[in-house]
Amino acid sequence: MIKKNEIALVTGASRGIGAVTAKLLAAQGYTVCVNYHSRTDAADQVVKEIEENGGSAFAVKADISKEEGVATLFAAIDANTMPLTGLVNNAGILFTQSKLVELTAERINKVLTANVTGSFLCAREAVKRMSTERGGKGGAIVNVSSGASRTGSPGEYVDYAASKGAVDTLTIGLAKEVAAEGIRVNGVRPGLIHTDIHADGGEPGRVARLAPRIPMQRGGEPEEVARAICFLLSEDASYTTGSILDATGGVV
Ligand code: NAD
Repeated sequence: MIKKNEIALVTGASRGIGAVTAKLLAAQGYTVCVNYHSRTDAADQVVKEIEENGGSAFAVKADISKEEGVATLFAAIDANTMPLTGLVNNAGILFTQSKLVELTAERINKVLTANVTGSFLCAREAVKRMSTERGGKGGAIVNVSSGASRTGSPGEYVDYAASKGAVDTLTIGLAKEVAAEGIRVNGVRPGLIHTDIHADGGEPGRVARLAPRIPMQRGGEPEEVARAICFLLSEDASYTTGSILDATGGVV
């Protein structure tokens, strides 16, 4: 493995899609900042696995939905001499199975703050460091959206779907805003992927229940999303910005 001497930050990377993405980026030579919210043991395990495979990583506990958390996270990145050139806004939360009339402001705000505000704050700090106009090396950002941003998820979680719609719009607007500063911004829309987000959200068997409605007749694996993220972050996508790639098994 050839080390890049560059840092890629993956938010919410102690498990699921984020953990696999962190491992793939480390295998590509990035030093990976493994951000996590609460599970120190799981984040340390991701770092350990990366190091055992010859890569470099460090874990930073921080709530990316809050200014203080984002400040802590980027201070830890700035403590390195290597520049930040990659950001994967992966952290997100989901609560399932509620109609709009049942939604509380508390739930809506939680979802919007984690999924939207968190992506905004991390993108803001990354752009400050990557921008060639500010002395940075340029870089790439990938925002993890959801197929729900297009389907709207009626009767299940329109709050989550709307939050991911905002993430898509952030991707498109920011891509145009920072293109001349050497930064590409793209998104990935996962479909139903086998991770713990469904159990945490309230329905462990959700992927299996809905699999027959997926054109490919199965849920996806975290690796199948992580590979799409890594492609968009890499130089293989050097002329691609403002795009959102579906990894949904055919759900459009
Ligand atoms: P996951 O629950 O395993 O991972 C999400 C991670 O984000 C968790 O580790 C969680 O602790 C972390 N996180 C949440 N809020 C945070 C915060 N404020 N600060 C720091 N970390 C925080 O789920 P996943 O399926 O791997 O989800 C990854 C991304 O993919 C999410 O953005 C999710 O919305 C999106 N997504 C997942 C699916 C799916 O079916 N699994 C489908 C579409 C989109």
